Amino acid sequence: MAGLVVESTKRILYENLPKLREQYWEESARPPKWMDRLQAAAGPHKSGNDPHIAGRALDIILFASQPLELEMANDLVEVFLGLREKMKWIAVIYNSEEWNRAGLKFPRTGSPENRHVTHIHVEWDAANINLVGFEADLAAALKKGLAKFRLTGQSFYIYVGADSNPQKIRDLRASYVERIKGQGGDVTDVLSVWLDYIVKIGSEVKLPGDPLPTPLEDGRALGIKIIETDELERILAV
Ligand SMILES: [Zn+2]
Repeated sequence: MAGLVVESTKRILYENLPKLREQYWEESARPPKWMDRLQAAAGPHKSGNDPHIAGRALDIILFASQPLELEMANDLVEVFLGLREKMKWIAVIYNSEEWNRAGLKFPRTGSPENRHVTHIHVEWDAANINLVGFEADLAAALKKGLAKFRLTGQSFYIYVGADSNPQKIRDLRASYVERIKGQGGDVTDVLSVWLDYIVKIGSEVKLPGDPLPTPLEDGRALGIKIIETDELERILAV
């Protein structure tokens, strides 16, 4: 078990950025395998006196070779730099750059491992291994600084049913599509098990005697989470 500062940071990142809940394919594992993106414990690339083994470092896997992941990682680094005094980390390393506890930047050279091109490394010293008091600020900074990534990797199907004002619910659908996409989410017209949510706008329409299932019935059969607009508003709240 890593220190509390590491576990809290990991949990808040997990809660606020769906992308970090996805696994990735770790080529350097023997044999290669799917792994979590938030790694506190010593992973396959750690050795000896590594701070991860001491429970005072967190790796956030975001590949600099992937434009979306690079952009997200750069924004995350900005959040950590902005909270340097509250979070009291002693090092942040990513993509050939390192910041020390004073926030000064240095180049990282050498091997890809040393340059940290696959993950952000955040490290604390032993004195702050159980630091508390930064959690709300980190959550707020993520909501603000990474708003456009908050739904990255999440897919939505929007079901438009019946309403006394059809134009109103069509407009509502259009505005939700825009807001979901604005936070990095995907809106699809295809029902599949890969969907994260079906959003129900209006009331369910089922014509008497119609043998075909409605998208909502299909969604229920597939076990997809069906939400209404109040729940969607909560998900979209920044
Ligand atoms: Zn690390």
